[in-house]
Amino acid sequence: MKILLLLFLVSWAIAHPTGESHRDKRQAAKLSTKWTNGQVNYYFGGTPLRDRRPMILNQMNYIQNRTCIKFVENKDAWQRIKIDLNDFTSCRSKVGAPGSRSNPGGEEVLEVGHCAIIFGTHIHELMHSLGIIHEHQRPDRDDKLNISQAEVVRRGLQIDMGIANWGTTSLLTPFDHGSVMAYDINHYEPPIMSAKDKDSDYTLGNRRVSFHDMYKVNKFYECSCPKELPCQNGGYTNPGDCSKCNCPRGWFGALCNEAPCGGSCVLQAKPEWQTKTVNTSYQFTGDNMDGFTSYFHHIQAPYGMTIEIKIEKLDKFICRSSCNHNGIEIKYRMDHTTTNPLICCLNEKQPFAQKVISSVKNPTVIEVYSKDRTEPAAATFSYRYIDEAIRFG
Ligand SMILES: [Zn+2]
Repeated sequence: MKILLLLFLVSWAIAHPTGESHRDKRQAAKLSTKWTNGQVNYYFGGTPLRDRRPMILNQMNYIQNRTCIKFVENKDAWQRIKIDLNDFTSCRSKVGAPGSRSNPGGEEVLEVGHCAIIFGTHIHELMHSLGIIHEHQRPDRDDKLNISQAEVVRRGLQIDMGIANWGTTSLLTPFDHGSVMAYDINHYEPPIMSAKDKDSDYTLGNRRVSFHDMYKVNKFYECSCPKELPCQNGGYTNPGDCSKCNCPRGWFGALCNEAPCGGSCVLQAKPEWQTKTVNTSYQFTGDNMDGFTSYFHHIQAPYGMTIEIKIEKLDKFICRSSCNHNGIEIKYRMDHTTTNPLICCLNEKQPFAQKVISSVKNPTVIEVYSKDRTEPAAATFSYRYIDEAIRFG
């Protein structure tokens, strides 16, 4: 029986790589409501084969460490969620706190039995519970995504794939292909969604949790600190710990003005190509259980020079949409606070990754990451700078 169940679960997970049910009929049922004072009361129910509680508690901590949201275990609270761990439950949540805006309170059930065992899937469901909709259902999503409306209607997916016009909460931050709230392009088979920016196709569905995911929660709940810090590089004072800033990926220190590894991971570009190999393997660092470990570098050039990067080799990388096993993010675009295109393939699936990537940023952040339970992997890239003034002068 257990083997049969496992086989069923494995086949289900393959069919639904992001882990979420597409049968949720309640998502757009009500305007999203907020938890009073940002306090989410919860309790666990059910007895699963695998105890997900440590993983879920870890992901709650991830949110708490970066926002003013607090998770409190209290099954008698007037406003609460039951986190149903049973294996035969789905993977879904109501959007917003229990009750309605005019009559908040009561109990909602957050089903996690079929959520994929990967960091970010429970954050996705918890964010629904906080009132956040899917990234691909934002009112502005048609600027960024191609979604076959005919297929949506034909397959009856209007609720999961339609625009949530009431979901203006999502507009508090820019559209982010790397949001934990976006589906993988292969969530449905055959696919019905792709990115208008082809280079971002494999970024959709990534589960690392983006900078803007937490920023959106902070804005929706109007989280703040008594004193604003002078955060740099797009960071903002962290309502989860007012003594430091929340930083975009690749920037460190209390004020987001420090390079990775205390400065020892800065690569000085020259006019000629140099090569660097970054080895990655998962390490538990506090709030990334079943999650990702990232290795950051800055590539730096003299003022006014343009940095170029070429991926030379991806060793043991798993080439799959959403780049959820290993990947590289190069912050080469103007907006480094949103997720730049993720790379996990060096073939025709990601043609842009085979070319020289020209960056508008100096320094340019380059991140190589690996997920728990993937083999150690390595990425090799080359970098240099060119003088655009000479080329175009
Ligand atoms: Zn969802």
